[in-house]
Amino acid sequence: MELFSQSILMSETHIISRILARWYETNKRDLPWRHTKNPYFIWLSEIILQQTRVEQGMPYYQKFVATYPTVRSLATAPEDDVLKLWQGLGYYSRARNLQFAAKQIMSEHGGQFPTNYAQIIGLKGIGIYTASAISSFAFGSKNAVVDGNVIRTLTRLFNISDPVNKRSVQIQIQALADTLLDTSDPGRHNQAMMEFGALHCAPRQPDCQNCPVQAHCASFAAGTVDQIPLKEKAKAKRDRHFHFAIVSDGASVCLEKRDSTDIWAGLHQFPLIETAHSDEVSNHEIAALIGIKDIQILKVHAHKKHVLSHQNIHSRFYHCSVPDMDNSKFSAIKLSEVHRFALPRLIDRYLENQDIF
Ligand code: SF4
Repeated sequence: MELFSQSILMSETHIISRILARWYETNKRDLPWRHTKNPYFIWLSEIILQQTRVEQGMPYYQKFVATYPTVRSLATAPEDDVLKLWQGLGYYSRARNLQFAAKQIMSEHGGQFPTNYAQIIGLKGIGIYTASAISSFAFGSKNAVVDGNVIRTLTRLFNISDPVNKRSVQIQIQALADTLLDTSDPGRHNQAMMEFGALHCAPRQPDCQNCPVQAHCASFAAGTVDQIPLKEKAKAKRDRHFHFAIVSDGASVCLEKRDSTDIWAGLHQFPLIETAHSDEVSNHEIAALIGIKDIQILKVHAHKKHVLSHQNIHSRFYHCSVPDMDNSKFSAIKLSEVHRFALPRLIDRYLENQDIF
């Protein structure tokens, strides 16, 4: 960091900020959350966009704003309804944290969204990035935002070649972002930095030839743009084998709620057998799981690999028939009602191609 702070004059950081602010005014996308200073709406947009591209996140933002227009409406909604609205975004803990924090705002802040960074970061599920974004966009607080787009832009501008997933490097980048922050309009500055990384200094094929800060870009000068930012290799993912039994008597189907100790906590699924191997499970194993002896496997579908951040889920769906549900250990849900339950994306996608529900 010393190297950067010595080599970069303060005046140069101000020039870069000014150029990017001008670039932003001409090139920014017209997004609904940029037309509001409502911290609750900004918060919703930030949480939704954490793992989703803008185009995919937009309908979710619009649905949440329409269904839960106030913090109170989100805080008092049934959890299943919130999860159902979130369905398809993945990372369901984010939806749960969203509602938990809404309840916190009701109980600890009298229903008013807190107005300063220290209080905002005290809400569940809100870290440094999100607190900086909300407080600077809504209230103009002087907190520099560092997201993936900002990390890429800064590491390239200052030719930082150390792995960006190292804590010490992240601290350096935050300090650099703080130095660059235009304190006369922190919200606009942060938006400009993020938008520039998203649209111009893109992960692949950044438009260096037409870049307004090319003359200030150390990695462009050094010819290292395509090597930056560097990430240390992640650990190998864990492979899991899920066998879902779709057990039906023709009118209803077995469904269960997942517990809170694993992925997809609180969502619903068909009865599950997890194995350490990829082989199919037997009729006998499914019968033992369901509690009904007279069970018949009609067909088995292998579904495509479902990739999560730390796990690969290999799944099979076993369509099974039973004469009735009398001895089932699971809840029997009418076939037409299954779509009302919040399901993991993997199951939801599988059902898109099934005509029985
Ligand atoms: S010159 Fe290229 S790498 Fe440098 S900031 Fe511009 S787009 Fe990014």
